[in-house]
Order: sequence, then structure tokens, then C-alpha cells
Amino acid sequence: PVRVRFAPSPTGMFHVGGARSALFNWAVAERAGGIFVLRIEDTDAARNRPEWTEGIISALDWIGVTTRSPIFEGPYFQSAYEPQHRAAAAKLHADGRAYYCDCTREDVQARTGSEHKGYDGFCRDRGLEAAPGRALRFRTPDEGVNVVDDLIRGRVEFPNDAMEDFVIARGDGSPLYVLANAVDDIEQRITHVIRGEEHLSNAARQQLLWPALGARPPVWAHLPVIVNEKRQKLSKRRDKVALESYRDEGYLAEAMVNYLMLLGWGPGGDREILPWAEMVRLFDLSDVNSASAFFDEKKLRAFNGEYIRGLTVEDFIERCGPWLQAPVAPWKPSDFDPAVFAQAAPLAQTRVAVLSEITANVDFLFLPEPVFDQASWDKAMAGKNSPREILSGYLARLGTADWTADALKTALEEVGAEHGLKLGKAQAPVRVAVTGRTVGLPLFESLELLGAPRVRARLQAALA
Ligand code: GLU
Repeated sequence: PVRVRFAPSPTGMFHVGGARSALFNWAVAERAGGIFVLRIEDTDAARNRPEWTEGIISALDWIGVTTRSPIFEGPYFQSAYEPQHRAAAAKLHADGRAYYCDCTREDVQARTGSEHKGYDGFCRDRGLEAAPGRALRFRTPDEGVNVVDDLIRGRVEFPNDAMEDFVIARGDGSPLYVLANAVDDIEQRITHVIRGEEHLSNAARQQLLWPALGARPPVWAHLPVIVNEKRQKLSKRRDKVALESYRDEGYLAEAMVNYLMLLGWGPGGDREILPWAEMVRLFDLSDVNSASAFFDEKKLRAFNGEYIRGLTVEDFIERCGPWLQAPVAPWKPSDFDPAVFAQAAPLAQTRVAVLSEITANVDFLFLPEPVFDQASWDKAMAGKNSPREILSGYLARLGTADWTADALKTALEEVGAEHGLKLGKAQAPVRVAVTGRTVGLPLFESLELLGAPRVRARLQAALA
């Protein structure tokens, strides 16, 4: 049976690249009716923090990997398997596949005359026993070519004479990542190793370790790097990479999942927006592109807007929940009226690309006064379109108009016509007086919802 794993190290915020790896693994497992293993690689005690492990798990919950999938196994914590890693190191030594070495970096450099040549094999045949300060090195072949057959990158050749005898356990006996990772994969019966391209050189080493540990190497698939619009590898310092920040801004998990699946893969044809089940049906690792994948935030936003428009109004209302309450919402909780929001929601649903934008779209309904923004005000109240006359003329006419969006519109059309203005121009001062903004929900529906007393008061305040 197919068994894949996602093996993040909890050394920072959970990255969109990690999420993409998790999803590709999940898609492979689900399509094959296999198992998805989550293994937290927490052996680097100096860099790990429990909150980052929690961050990984909650992010995976959010995108549905851990919660919706019946094929989930774990999480395993790598640190719990250190005895197995040490035992594997000891076995490699006992079998003559690894040897102890007491050379310092300076020793090696003095002998090879270079910082870059790597280890020269000095201790290979010295027969040193384990002792503090002695590292354990894996004996690599001297000749021939080590081939990593990668489902995405094809046949990648590593000449053996260019690979040094690499360290698998430090001088204090602690196993290195390259070994621990292989031991766990073998122990957890992993059949496909699907991970970022930065691990390709580890695959070359692990391709040697697996058979030395008595196992047949897995199928390898190294995913293309993800780059920003300048074609630079996405980085924590430069780019917005934390999955959490997208969640907190109001990206929908479904949109995020769909978008991340397209980083290196496509369903074919011109369709890009499709449900998870269909992506799983179509997904094949051998269709993944080896060229770097562009993380296009604008496109992600557009995707999210499409997903938002595809929600039922009830669902949309529910998902807006967190943005309508303290501490996010700027209004007093007692001023919020769910019934009014329910009427505004369908108007807003077509206008927000991320859920956090809902607040600015509806705040005029729940704040005692509209948000005052000088720039918007100046723009709408600029002289030539008789803004004051429009406001006072409209105020006068509202006394007799029915309080329906249609009648409110007709009234403003008439006032505008008196000043030779089309509706669009006549709307501008009314919108800014009532909502504080130059763009927003359809104006007349907004006025209807806000109600006559508040609309009148705001028009009067604007004229005062
Ligand atoms: N723990 C490694 C990382 O986070 C991943 C190792 C792997 O997938 O083999 O980069």
C-alpha cells in the first residue's frame, strides 16, 4: 500500500511551501487509497518550539489534511525515536558501512589544502572505536554513479567520487537529520518521499543509506521551488509566507488549497478552479512540472474572491463571523445588528476578495458616525459637481420619497438632473456623507438599510 509522509521541522511559522508539500502528499495518498503520515521532525532542540508544532497542526487542520481525511496517521514525533536512530548508526558501524572519525575541520583543510574539497577519507581504515568527540561517517562508494530516479526531475546522476563520506552521527553520538529521516521513513514503511527540491542532495545520500539499512529506496519526488514575482525563492524575511497570515486575513481554506495545488501542477484544460475530490482524481506526480512555480498573490486573491462568491449567503454570513466581533470589528458589540448584516451580506459578497474586507464594507451600518477620511471627503466634495447643492437638494426631497432603494434612486436622479449631473456624479457626495467612503455597497440599498433618521442626520452633518 502507498504510504506517504509529510515531515516538517517546527523551526518557524508554517510556510505555504510546506502546505503545498502536505497537499501533494495527501493527494497521492487519497488517490491511491493509501496512508498519509504526519511526522514532526523535532530533533533540533535549539531551534524547535512547541508553539511552532501547534502552528503546523492547526494549519493542517485548517486546510483539512488532518480533519477531513480518513487516511491520516500520526503525528509521530521524531525525537521519540532517537534510540532507533542510534541503533541504526551502531548497526551501520558494526556492518562496516560506517566508521568513526576524529578529524577536525582544520585537520581536513590542512591535508586537502581547501575548504571546499570535503572529507578526504583519512579515518576510513583506522578502525577507531566509538568515543566522545568521534563522529560517525558513512562510507560512500568511490566509483560509479549514484542515480536518483525522481518522478518529477527524472534521472538525476550523482557521481560517487564527488560525494564525501558524510557524517551520520555527531561526536556526542547524536544522529544527524539525514540518518534519522531515513530510519523513520523505513520504520514507518514510507513508499513515496515527496518533498521540496532543496532535499534532492539528501536523496542522493539517503539512496545509499536505505539499502545499507536493509530497505529498498522509496519512490522519490522533489517538488519545484516556489518563487516570488522577482523569481526569487520565497523567503520568510522577504515574502508573506506564513499560512496563518492568509487565514487571519480571511482567505478561505478551499481557495488556499486549490491555489496551492496549482504550484507546479495543473489539472489540464483551461479550468483551474475545481473541488478537492476532482483534483485528487486528476492528480499525478509525474505531471508535476520541475520548473519553479510562481506564487502569485494577486491570483490567489482573485481565486479567493471567486470562492467567496460561490458560497451560499448563509455560509458567507457565518464565515464573516470573526470579522464582525471584537476585537476586529470597530463598532460596539451592542451596535451590531445581525438582521441588518444579513441584508447587507449578499450585497457585500460580490465585492470582497478576502473576508477581512467585510468590515470596511459594512461599518457605516453599525458605527454611530461614518468613518471620516479626509482624502475621500476632499475627492467627493471637490467643487465642480455642486456637492453641497446635491446634498441639500437630496435632503429636501427625502422628506417626500418612499424609503425604498428605487425611490431613493429616482430622487437622487432628479436632484442630479437639476444640476446637470448624471447619477454617478451625484452619488459621490451622498456616498461619502453617509458611508465615509468613495466606494462600497450599492448606494441606494445601503440608504434603505441604514434608515431615514440616520441618513438625514448624516446628510445634515455633512452640510454643517
Ligand atoms: N524535516 C524536513 C524539512 O522540514 C523535511 C524532510 C523530508 O521531507 O524528508 O525540511
